[in-house]
Amino acid sequence: MSERFDAVVVGGGVIGLACAWRARQRGLDVVVLDAARPGAASPVAAGMLSPATETEFGEERLLELNLHALELWPRFAAELELPYRQCGALALATDADEAAELRRHVEYRRSLGLAGEWLTPSRCRELEPGLAACAGGVLVPDEGECDPRAIVAALAARVPVERAEVVDGVWDGERLAGVVTADGRTVEGTVVLATGCWGADWLPEPPALRPVKGQIVRLRGTPILGRLIRAERVYLTPRANGELVVGASVEERGFDTSVVAGTVHELLREAYRILPDIAELEFVEACAGLRPATPDNLPLVGSGPVEGLVYALGHYRNGILLAPATADEVAGLLAGARV
Ligand SMILES: Cc1cc2nc3c(=O)[nH]c(=O)nc-3n(C[C@H](O)[C@H](O)[C@H](O)COP(=O)(O)OP(=O)(O)OC[C@H]3O[C@@H](n4cnc5c(N)ncnc54)[C@H](O)[C@@H]3O)c2cc1C
Repeated sequence: MSERFDAVVVGGGVIGLACAWRARQRGLDVVVLDAARPGAASPVAAGMLSPATETEFGEERLLELNLHALELWPRFAAELELPYRQCGALALATDADEAAELRRHVEYRRSLGLAGEWLTPSRCRELEPGLAACAGGVLVPDEGECDPRAIVAALAARVPVERAEVVDGVWDGERLAGVVTADGRTVEGTVVLATGCWGADWLPEPPALRPVKGQIVRLRGTPILGRLIRAERVYLTPRANGELVVGASVEERGFDTSVVAGTVHELLREAYRILPDIAELEFVEACAGLRPATPDNLPLVGSGPVEGLVYALGHYRNGILLAPATADEVAGLLAGARV
């Protein structure tokens, strides 16, 4: 059995779905094939849209991509009718050592032309009255959040998604002409590889892609926080509906997706040190996802090494933020390829 589309998107996480949606808007006939793998990153992510507070020293190129993506977010969210909030982020230091480190970060961001003003502990607590004692912070007003599960649901309602595991490619000489699924279907079209942390064997030099495990805790109750809080050992992402996401571990454990008591304990302990009122919130869940990481933390987006293959991989810590930008780029490539 063989079916033909303009593009076959392999992977129905936020990246694959967003690429498929934008490609359909350009008039392409697209299908998304997803294997529903445990540990997919998108449904686990916190949904912070944080170009500056997520950037580490030396990640100027990533910062540029992230800032561009943030600019696309208001339109992306409006088109999908998503609960996007530009609530701002408060990068917080809980002691003198963290304050010194955060000040170094602020200087670095200033050197890149980003705003960032040091706030005294009392000013931090004026902004967020629920905070425990802290050593100061920095307000980044243009950062925000959007619920990744709402994003995935909104996109999945707009593109055809089929449950199927892709196991191989279909070759027409040197050109990749489509994919083969585990149940023996052949689906032809330009292949968009959006398989998150899976798919290293499709790259010319494995292992250029690896999973980085993240455990996260979801709480719910009366809202106790207005902004994202970014501290050294934990972050807090509040939603308007009362959900509070506490994240996240960063673990090099291959494809392990277990949720362990010690990590949940550490996340809650650090969150409690910053915002004691979390003790009153209802515990909803703890879960783990696999971030798709590359050696330089930059996404792998663009034409693959063979004709007929497009990459949309490796979005690591920023795939929710970067989705609108990657989708535009991939849809542009696919539309160009069709001409
Ligand atoms: C704990 C945690 C917190 C995070 N917080 C944030 C955040 O606050 N902000 C942010 O921007 N980013 C965040 N991220 C990162 C973000 O979640 C990822 O970068 C993004 O979700 C990657 O999306 P993706 O579609 O590439 O991968 P995934 O969401 O992993 O989707 C890949 C899909 O491919 C499918 N697949 C794989 N192989 C095959 C195959 N052979 N055939 C068919 N289907 C296949 C899988 O079933 C899966 O559904 C976080 C990640 C984690 C784990």
